[in-house]
Formats: sequence, C-alpha cells, structure tokens
Amino acid sequence: MAVDALCSPLGPPACEKDAKALQFIEQMTRNADAVQACVLAEILSRNAETEYLRLYNLDGATDRESFKSKIPMVTYEDLQPIIQRIANGDRSPILSSYPISEFLTSSGTSAGERKLMPTIREELDRRQLLYSLLMPVMNLYMPGLDKGKGLYFLFVKSESKTPGGLLARPVLTSYYKSDHFKTRSFDPYNVYTSPNEAILCPDSFQSMYSQMLCGLYERKQVLRLGAIFASGLLRAIRFLQLNWQELAMDIRTGTLNAKIFDSDIRQCMARVLRPDSELADFIESECSKDNWERIITRIWPNTKYLEVIVTGAMAQYIPTLDYYSGGLPKVCTMYASSECYFGLNLNPMCKPSEVSYTIMPNMAYFEFLPHDPTSPTGATSDKLVDLVNVEVGKEYELVITTYAGLCRYRVGDILRVTGFHNSAPQFHFVRRKNVLLSIDSDKTDEAELQAAVENASKLLNAFNTSVVEYTSHADTKTIPGHYVIYWELLAKDSNNFPTNDALERCCLAMEESLNSVYRQGRVECNSIGPLEIRVVKTGTFEELMDYAISKGASINQYKVPRCVNVTPITELLDSRVVSAHFSQRLPRWTPERRR
Ligand code: AMP
Repeated sequence: MAVDALCSPLGPPACEKDAKALQFIEQMTRNADAVQACVLAEILSRNAETEYLRLYNLDGATDRESFKSKIPMVTYEDLQPIIQRIANGDRSPILSSYPISEFLTSSGTSAGERKLMPTIREELDRRQLLYSLLMPVMNLYMPGLDKGKGLYFLFVKSESKTPGGLLARPVLTSYYKSDHFKTRSFDPYNVYTSPNEAILCPDSFQSMYSQMLCGLYERKQVLRLGAIFASGLLRAIRFLQLNWQELAMDIRTGTLNAKIFDSDIRQCMARVLRPDSELADFIESECSKDNWERIITRIWPNTKYLEVIVTGAMAQYIPTLDYYSGGLPKVCTMYASSECYFGLNLNPMCKPSEVSYTIMPNMAYFEFLPHDPTSPTGATSDKLVDLVNVEVGKEYELVITTYAGLCRYRVGDILRVTGFHNSAPQFHFVRRKNVLLSIDSDKTDEAELQAAVENASKLLNAFNTSVVEYTSHADTKTIPGHYVIYWELLAKDSNNFPTNDALERCCLAMEESLNSVYRQGRVECNSIGPLEIRVVKTGTFEELMDYAISKGASINQYKVPRCVNVTPITELLDSRVVSAHFSQRLPRWTPERRR
C-alpha cells in the first residue's frame, strides 16, 4: 500500500475504505503532471464542438501548447454575456457539451449581485470524491472518531430561478439537497448529530434550533464540532446564548417549541425528544453563568477539535474560538469554491497559520499567474505556470479550466506555495483579491465601500455637511460581527449638525448600497449585525496620517487606508469617536430573480 508518505506517527489507515482513499491521494499527487494533461485533454475533447472553443479556433486540439497559445485568460466580467445567455435559456453547447444543470451562486459578486457559475451534473461526483478523502486523512491523526459523532451546523440557503428556468443557488445548498448527500451511505467515522431534515430546512432559525437541540441531547457523544466557516460556529454559540432557556425547557418536557413548525423537522424531532430533567438542569446551570469561557468543552466535554475554516478572512475569529473552546485544535480540511473544489489539507492538526492545501490534480486543470505582493498591480508576468512548476515561496493567482466549461478563469485567490506532497504543490491561502471587509461569506471591495459612502452621504446635504474622510473596520468582537465605518464630517453650519436619526438613516443607506451577499447575510442568515457609523472628531484622519508617517510611511505617497485592522490605529480612531449610530432597519433583500 502506497500510503507511507501520508502516515502520521499515529499509524496506518483506520480501515480498508480509508486505505483506498489514501492510495488515491498518493496516485494523484505522484502523477500530478500526467493527471493534469489527461484532465485538460478530457475537457478539451469533450467540449471541442462548443461555441467557446470554436470561437478560439482550437480545432479539436487537446494538447497544452495549442490550449495555451489560443485560449485567453478571462475574468467573470469577460464571460458574463455568455453566462447571461445560458441563464436566459439558451441550451446550445456554449461553454460545455454537457447540459448545464444549474447555476451555483458565488459569494463573489459582480455589479452587486452574486456571480453565476455554470455547473454540470457530474461535478457533484467530483465534489463528493473530494469530501470522501477528508475523513481518511483525519483518521490518520485523530483515532477513535468512529466512537462518537460530529455536531456540524450546516445550512441551506434560498434558491432562485433564472429567466431560462435553471436553478441558481449556493454550492453547498446544491450539495446538501442532492442524493449524494441525502442518501449517503453510513460511515461510522462520519456520523452527524444533525438530521437531514434539520439541515435542509430553509428557515435558519428552525434549522439552527433543531440542530442545537440534537447536539445538546447527544452532548457526550460529540467528538468534533464544526461549521463551514468560523463565523458560522460562533453564530451557533450566540444562538445558544440567546435560546438556552427555551432549549432547556424542550429537554425538560420532551416537547418541541412551537416556533419550530416545519413539519419534516417536527416529525423527525419526535424521534429525538424525550424528557430529561437532569440534562435540562445541566444546560441551565452552565448557560446561566455569566462567564462563557470554555463553554464548548463544558457542554460537549469529549470534543477533540473544531472543524471550521479559519484561513483567509476567517483568521480574525481565532481568538474568540479559543476563548469559547479553551484553545481546542482548529482543523481546516479543504479549500473549495463554487467554480470548482480545489483540494485538501493533508496535515489537518497543524496550527491555523501553517495550513496548506494540496490541490488535487483530478479536480480541474490548474494554472498559476505569478503575483508580486510588492507591485501595485500585483502582476509580474502574464505567463501562466503549470501546477507542478510553481516555485516554493512564490505567490500566484489561481486560474482554472473546469469540466463545466470555464476556460482559464481567474478565481481571484492569491496563494503562496509552501511545499509539495509528491509532485503536487501545497498552498497557503494568502487572501482573496480586492476584499476590504468580510464578516461571513460577504466580501466588500473598495469601490463598493466608496459607492456606499457616497450614497449615504447624500443624506447629509440637508445639514450642509459632507464626509471629508472615512475608513472602515470589520468588528468581530460581537456575534454576529458588523461593519464599522468611521466618518470625519465637515459641518458648515455648526447649528445644524446631522441628527442621530439622519446618521442612522445613513447607516441604512450604506447597507442598501452594499452587495446582495452582504444584504442576504443581514436579512436571511442573520450572520451580519447592523452597520455602525462612528463619527470622529475633526482632525482625526490627520492624526492617522501622522501616526503612519511616524511608522515610516512616505508623506508623498500616503493614502488614507479604507480599512484598518491594526490595534493602535483602531484604538486611536475609537478614542476620537464623538457619536456612534447603528442601522435601525434591515436593508432590502429578496432572493433575486436573475435577469
Ligand atoms: P464561493 O464561490 O462563494 O464558494 O467562495 C469561494 C471562495 O471562498 C474561494 O475562492 C476562497 O476565496 C474562499 N475560500 C474557500 N475555501 C477557503 C479556505 N479553506 N480558506 C480560505 N478561503 C477559502
């Protein structure tokens, strides 16, 4: 068995099924370049007659040289007219010779709306394949996971239809609703406390409530706790803070709260619920304490690790997770997107700062655009590098060619090569390009923030006041986190300073201007709290500049940072706040019909 390179000190694969999965990883990573050549040839030959490849005169060629010389690198905006035609109902083979089965709505946005990623049915198999590799790797490092269960807070989101009748929904919603997930075969190493009915309920309150209730009943069996993102797990803790009395009451009486009216959930929870006054007493005594430090290990005492993404923007949540869990290991298992699932972490017990993802060469054809972190545009050359030829220590932007027909598509993620597993490179996720603010899956860039400030500041005209400078900060001290925008105002008429009411309306106006993923987080998922404007004293931004210059910034090149994260700077700003104002209403958001 060729698994030696993957063996941790803990020893060999946990079972025969794991041995096969580990062997598969070994095969793929040992032959990364040959697998990549096959993947490209397969994609190009099956899509040879598509409008897209014909447009670039590929003439049926399936080799790398023809592909690289004829097919351009593209962004979503380049593809949008084509994607819109598919969304409008054009069923001809435009990007893929296989029918587009649905659109996956990315948390990346274009013109304020989620990007629509075309997908084909067989991609579900590829996603499932990657999922099937995660536990075999985990079992190498953490024995005994078959002796208990995982409490994973998993959710579906609302879906919409394009004018041409195709479904548009997030990739995880698509996966959880598929038979691949719903009728998955029993795996003793991967048993969840959450029933499918609870995961599949589109109402986030009812879904969370019933998943939490199941997790509380099975508190001693829970060996691992997780959510997709760190922010999701913290939201579950916040939910417990707000709802423990009602949850304990249900456990005491063995009946389900009337707020849970979804008939599928009620039916399945009838099988779970039983009166248990001892458990109810325990929950009440733990949750009524003022101090919630280590609440996770107090309630779920056998938890060995947390499984959540804490890389990229999610790193901001590590201290809070440590507080609630007493520093349990935080495991990041995989790296994926709506466009394509990329790879997995072969050393899952490592520290978050050391997480590297190994790209699996069978998932798509991968290329890498060299990226220079010190250059203003980030670009160093437009010559794309193949998967096996990237260099350790260098940064690249990920470019993919997928089975669903995206060709040389820029994902927008910046990755740094940390090493190789066999001939497959391993990458540290550096950041997503152009993201200024992020709380959950929302991503707000500088242009969006600027437009939001401009729109909101129009409301200040009535007060003869303007915004002279602004910056922002993602405040994650509270759960859910929220955007804080610092404003320095110039009031030309000191007797007519903007009122609290006006500034609260400015908060809402900013939210209304932000993209649909932000607004969905506010309205549907409750994953983002109300936006806050903090008005700072006149002269604060000059002090900010003085501070930057004292730290070595060039006075000629100084630009106001549009987002601040460094503690001395946020402290300086906070010490100059004259008033704080929160959005009092939810912004508009409905599952959009895709034009
Ligand atoms: P979406 O298309 O909405 O599914 O978002 C995919 C994006 O989420 C990726 O392109 C990354 O920017 C980010 N992402 C996914 N997995 C990870 C991870 N493990 N660590 C950091 N960022 C991630």
